[in-house]
Amino acid sequence: MTRTRFAPSPTGFMHVGGVRTALFAWLIAQKDHGTFILRIEDTDKAREVDGSIAQIESSLRWLGIDWQEGIDKGGPHAPYLQSERLAIYKDWAQKLVDNGRAYADPYTKDELEAFRDDAKTSKQPFLYRNHRPENPPEWDGSQPLRFKSDPKSYTWTDAVMGDLAAGSEAIDDFILMKSDGYPTYNFCHIVDDMLMEITHVLRSQEFISSTPKYLNLYEALGIAPPILATLPYVMAIDGKKKLGKRDGAKDILEYANDGYLPEAMMNFLATLGWNDGSEQEIFTRNELVEKFSLERVQKSPARFDEQRLLWLNGQHIRLLSIDDLFERVRDFWPVSAATASDERKKTILALVQDRLKTLKDLSVITDYFFADPTPDWNMIAENKQLKKLDNDTLAGLLHAAKDAFEKSDDFSADGIQNTLNDLLETTGQKPGILFSVIRLAVSWAPFSPALNDTLSVLGKDIVLARLDSATRPATNQ
Ligand code: GLU
Repeated sequence: MTRTRFAPSPTGFMHVGGVRTALFAWLIAQKDHGTFILRIEDTDKAREVDGSIAQIESSLRWLGIDWQEGIDKGGPHAPYLQSERLAIYKDWAQKLVDNGRAYADPYTKDELEAFRDDAKTSKQPFLYRNHRPENPPEWDGSQPLRFKSDPKSYTWTDAVMGDLAAGSEAIDDFILMKSDGYPTYNFCHIVDDMLMEITHVLRSQEFISSTPKYLNLYEALGIAPPILATLPYVMAIDGKKKLGKRDGAKDILEYANDGYLPEAMMNFLATLGWNDGSEQEIFTRNELVEKFSLERVQKSPARFDEQRLLWLNGQHIRLLSIDDLFERVRDFWPVSAATASDERKKTILALVQDRLKTLKDLSVITDYFFADPTPDWNMIAENKQLKKLDNDTLAGLLHAAKDAFEKSDDFSADGIQNTLNDLLETTGQKPGILFSVIRLAVSWAPFSPALNDTLSVLGKDIVLARLDSATRPATNQ
């Protein structure tokens, strides 16, 4: 049975790289009807940031990545917080001592420094294993405990990176337990993955150079390693450096506030370094579960392209039913919509759905449906085509439009389109000019849905009133 885990350290917010690792591990478990475990690795107390665990849990929940075993859920291998498992690590450390595979490190910092300097002088790589004490003191938990390695070369197969190899120089005596009683990551993740029966370990590229050490420790513990899958780094858009805060690596929950849909984010993260071999770009959550496989994860780093995320978000917004979209945009309406009925809001939502790239766009794109907009004549003055119009022409067009709409008794979208087409003929204007003038006069918004739909939903009275009051002050020409 497939059992995967996400094992973050509570050292701050969750950014795309971390969440992508969680997603891939979750997808594998989902696909195999297996179990996904959330384990918190809090053995480095100095790096811990308050509130991180809650932040990790809410980030995963927002994305719809659910875990079956974890701190809040319990499970057959509880506890899932490493600082509550210290006795377990101590036990396993003692087993390694008893088998002659671990020893108390008797050296002071200065002594170790001297060994290092010697290696430097003789131009040799520094290895702890060249300095194993002949008679190490008995380990009482207050000294660091080192692994007594068995140097050898390894070849292994990584489920993403393929066949890999390392020489015996990659194997050294590393610390298992620190003098503060806490285990190192290198030790406790292996004990936990073993006890929690993890079948696939997915993690980022930074751990790949340590894999030979881990293989050596698995051997010492007499256990077969799980399937190892190393995910390439997520790079900044230029492809040159690892994604950092300056290149857009922000808290995943900020995207929720910015009006991104979790399914768009999930689609984006899944396709950061994975594709299904076809041209398909938009995947629903179910399609991802069905199609995801480690075999198709790329070996080369993925690039973080925020424009692509924005595009995907627009695509996923279009996939929602109006009722679903209505639920998602509850916090994104303009203030002016406060008293509007749900029915009216849904009508407007259906009109703008295809134009929304984020839910946050809703406010700008719908405000003028609920309240009279404030004219901003700069929008005409700064528009390439419209700035050429003098006041008389502008007033003439607005007047002609008002006149035509006043006379027409068909204010359906189709009826309006007919009136607009007639207006093109009577005014002799290009659609780009005539329609933009009308659009601005009724909305004063940077963008809006199709003009005939917009006018129809606004209603005849409002359209006439706004066309009437859109008179440019002479000073503004
Ligand atoms: N606690 C490690 C980290 O946050 C986890 C690495 C792993 O998945 O084993 O980087």
